[in-house]
Amino acid sequence: MSNNLLTVAYIVASALFILSLGGLSDQETARQGNVYGIVGMLIAFVATALSLDMNAYGILGSVVIPGAVIGAIVASRVAMTSMPELVAILHSFVGAAAVLVGIANYLQETRSLTPVESTIHQIEIFVGVFIGAVTFTGSIIAFGKLRGIISSKPLLLPGRHLLNLTMLAAAIWLGSQFIGAEAITGLQPLLIMSAIASVLGIHLVMAIGGADMPVVISMLNSYSGWAAAAAGFMLSNDLLIITGALVGSSGAILSYIMCKAMNRSFISVILGGFGAQTSASAGDGEQIEGKVTSTTVEDTVELLSRAKSVIIVPGYGMAVAQAQHGVSEIVKRLRDRGIKVRFGIHPVAGRMPGHMNVLLAEAKVPYDIVLEMDEINEDFTETDVVLVIGANDTVNPSALENPNSPIAGMPVLEVWKAGTVIVMKRSMASGYAGVENPLFYKHNTLMLFGDARKNIDATVGKLAELSEESVNLNLAVKPAFST
Ligand code: NDP
Repeated sequence: MSNNLLTVAYIVASALFILSLGGLSDQETARQGNVYGIVGMLIAFVATALSLDMNAYGILGSVVIPGAVIGAIVASRVAMTSMPELVAILHSFVGAAAVLVGIANYLQETRSLTPVESTIHQIEIFVGVFIGAVTFTGSIIAFGKLRGIISSKPLLLPGRHLLNLTMLAAAIWLGSQFIGAEAITGLQPLLIMSAIASVLGIHLVMAIGGADMPVVISMLNSYSGWAAAAAGFMLSNDLLIITGALVGSSGAILSYIMCKAMNRSFISVILGGFGAQTSASAGDGEQIEGKVTSTTVEDTVELLSRAKSVIIVPGYGMAVAQAQHGVSEIVKRLRDRGIKVRFGIHPVAGRMPGHMNVLLAEAKVPYDIVLEMDEINEDFTETDVVLVIGANDTVNPSALENPNSPIAGMPVLEVWKAGTVIVMKRSMASGYAGVENPLFYKHNTLMLFGDARKNIDATVGKLAELSEESVNLNLAVKPAFST
């Protein structure tokens, strides 16, 4: 393929990536956005494989084919609830690739460069390897935290900010040794810096607590984009630079939006909790008043069917239980009875941004009744019944009421302001952030214990019986009126 044709293919692929991002920003166009992304990536791959520089087809095939097969198998098998883990580990691959490309590029520079070009190229390599190493280890720690292999509690070493600063200063000093070093002699500072950056990545993410993990994931997404962009500079590949910059900037914007939604300082989170208050750990001395009242499916159906307005608040537990189809059925049945039903979605409900929206869309819940937290939070006071399905941290009043709570300051869905709150979960266990929830002890809260899927299916069954009863009643009543 000629260089001109390659440039055209890269421009088309870049445009498709931009259209893809645009599409992914809305539920209704998300599928279309995905298709644009897939087509863009196919064009990029085929164009690169057919470019003039490419002649090692044997090596290309031997890495791409097994990679594609493993990727397809893993992606098709992954449960929706494990998606963030998969994303985290994939980010680590991008980081590792940037490190390896940087080192390989340094060891085998094929182009002849002027001294100025050579210095710029060395900076590209050094910065790319640094970002790549931080992304690589940081993403592995994020994967471990999400999977529960590593505790979600923040690791707060004494003098941790000084430690980070020292590592950064050491990396900068090694950079000064690397740039301008003769031939292979720069390898030593490059490798030492890679090791330091790897420790920095581990330390930065270890210091971040469970409740801030969503932001860390999108931040690592951003880092992986910048690492790819740096690799693009090293390889003089314009498409990689554009794609990396798109991923880097969209990840940074998403992290900022999430920080705002969770009332967290963006700078604090990206600097490994810098300036954050060392808050009390879960349940630290907090005395929760009130008693827990449990309820049954029958009473839940009774309350739901008598309500005028209902808000459903789903969380991670709905995803685990895969209860979304049953929930959709409940919505249909309640709406058939003339009850106003809406959903309240917290920005970090579940385990990835948009997790609940994806599940509800899959269960064909109409988009117009699915509202964001800001759109619905004021309506709880006028709502008869709130059905909380497997949500916990995102409905925890201590975020607003207890300044010592690890999730203090995070805006939450203020469900307790409704007439009655029914919480579906299996036990009194805490949520992802490991914080006790006073909601469960409130006078207007009823706990419906058990697996969400089982209870939702039982609720659907009872609602169906209720509908049949009213149909039968109507049939029995009508003749009496008609005579
Ligand atoms: P939580 O993680 O706070 O709580 C989920 C609840 O679901 C648990 O308390 C659990 O209680 C219950 N549950 C689990 N399985 C079932 C089941 N089969 N049936 C019924 N209930 C079940 O969920 P939220 O969605 O409220 O909050 C999300 C949390 O995850 C936040 O802390 C957020 O910061 C964090 N996070 C979010 C990410 C994102 O991008 N959205 C990414 C990473 C973390 P029990 O065991 O008693 O059943």
